[in-house]
Amino acid sequence: MNASVRHGAATDIGRREINEDAFVASPPLYAVADGMGGHHGGDVAAQTAVEVLAHAVSVEGRALLEGVREANREIHRLATTDPKLRGMGTTITAMVAGDGSLEIVHVGDSRAYLLREGGLVRITQDHSLVERMVREGRLSPEHADSHPQRSVLERALGVQSEVQVDSHLLDTLEGDRLLLCSDGLTGVLNDEEIRAVLVEEASPEEASRQLIAEAVEAGGTDNITALVVDYPGRRPPRAPTAARPRRRFFTPRKATVAGIVLGLAVLLAVAGRAALYNAWYVGDDRGRVTIFRGPPESVAGFDLSRPVERTDLLVASLPQAVRQDLAHGIRAEDAADARRIVADLRRLPSVPGGGGTTTVVPGASP
Ligand code: MN
Repeated sequence: MNASVRHGAATDIGRREINEDAFVASPPLYAVADGMGGHHGGDVAAQTAVEVLAHAVSVEGRALLEGVREANREIHRLATTDPKLRGMGTTITAMVAGDGSLEIVHVGDSRAYLLREGGLVRITQDHSLVERMVREGRLSPEHADSHPQRSVLERALGVQSEVQVDSHLLDTLEGDRLLLCSDGLTGVLNDEEIRAVLVEEASPEEASRQLIAEAVEAGGTDNITALVVDYPGRRPPRAPTAARPRRRFFTPRKATVAGIVLGLAVLLAVAGRAALYNAWYVGDDRGRVTIFRGPPESVAGFDLSRPVERTDLLVASLPQAVRQDLAHGIRAEDAADARRIVADLRRLPSVPGGGGTTTVVPGASP
């Protein structure tokens, strides 16, 4: 490893009731995970991912790719043996910083960026429905990062017993700066805004805190995590700091959430359950897209949720990945957010042959 590599990391709960992001900074290993699992389990999945990975790589000295595969198996094992954790999964974007080179492995929609000579390059590709739609020309790139279904993943750790992992090897230069982050950051800041912060802030600690502060300020509701890793050397010239207003980082709300503590997964899972009863989601009620109040799970055969608004939009007209997501319930912040999700579902392209019908019901398309 390169002994003089430096890092800084920060995470914020956003406007959620629980932080389902997790990270580990255990040089030379760095990783960010963003858990999901209906209304609970996401935090367990993300914590398990970083803990298993850190143990495999830092303690047992195993390869990064192997560590990620082991994390996948462990999350899948938990998800299939504990009914309360069924369906949980997580993204993982992990890196080992070597001397003159680095390795990055990746599953999901957390991202790795490289800042080199003042220019920002995204290294990872999101394994998400919207990124595929962009690749296929069905969605413009500028709409992808703010799309309400941007969290619909096509690959995640823990969902199946084996997982396909992307792997990148990079030669590094003096002064390179790496950013690993969850979609809570990239959902509200565009690449240029991220680049501006990374260029301006000299220390990795300050850069990670400033990224979080700007994402919160920009109205981020999701959990936000940023991990910045610096290779030593000449840094590109900084823009004048007077040009941008400084923002206060430690608000009272954030002070109550002073970062992530490894090993709190169980406590967090209990806290997550309390959040179930304020839940809203968009799901499928007899083939129609429907807004539900309550969590999508059922207990001993009794549904915990009730349908509030059944729309005219046919589930069968939607893309396969969205139908799967509707089957599990697309989580919403509140009723208005649920209606926004429905409005966005109406704008999705209908899928020829998908689910047996090709039509969106009259009045449903924009
Ligand atoms: Mn997220």
